[in-house]
Amino acid sequence: MTEETTMWSEREQVSELGKELIAQGLANGTMGNLSERSGDCVAVSPSGVSYEDVTPERVPVVTLEGEQIAGDNDPSSETPMHCLVYEHRDDVGGVVHTHSPYATTFASLGQAIPASHYLIGFAGHEVPVTDYGLPGSTELGRMAAATLGDDYQAVLLKHHGVITVGETLDAAFEIAQMVEYCARIHYQALNVGDPEILPEKTVDDLINKFRCYGRN
Ligand code: 13P
Ligand code: ZN
Repeated sequence: MTEETTMWSEREQVSELGKELIAQGLANGTMGNLSERSGDCVAVSPSGVSYEDVTPERVPVVTLEGEQIAGDNDPSSETPMHCLVYEHRDDVGGVVHTHSPYATTFASLGQAIPASHYLIGFAGHEVPVTDYGLPGSTELGRMAAATLGDDYQAVLLKHHGVITVGETLDAAFEIAQMVEYCARIHYQALNVGDPEILPEKTVDDLINKFRCYGRN
């Protein structure tokens, strides 16, 4: 495999969905990042490059240890977090990090997003929040992986943003959309009343139901 063709479909996917992060208001400017794994390699968005300028050629490929093996640009500064999440979770094939505004509002408050809307079941019983960690640090990556645990599909990074995971990058992207939607609804519900939170057993049932959603 030549450097140009290494992880080509994953690099195309990173380039395409990065543009969607901006189009859907999930990230602003060059902020946020996304990656897709294949085996021991990860195609990850480049650091500090406008998503509109990110072509597949420019998408770096790194090993799980973080060594760059392809791509014209430096990998995202959050590559340690992406790699630590992949190392922690064999079931994860895609990772998305956003600063989406409603979810990040709760991250800034250090508050988990609770199950006031049933779609939270795509992410888990709630969207938990990590302590603050320096952006780009291994410490932040370790906290994100530990808070994701074995079951959560999304975590808020305190004073920072959101990280979501999925079997594929597409799936992780959908979780990022769901998290932002649930955060917005919860924010709005708090503004007009006192939202009731769904019981744990009800959310268990939703999580089980969503495992097969859209699979046929
Ligand atoms: P990168 O441009 O290096 O991916 O950083 C953006 C970001 O969101 C840092 O947390
Ligand atoms: Zn960030």
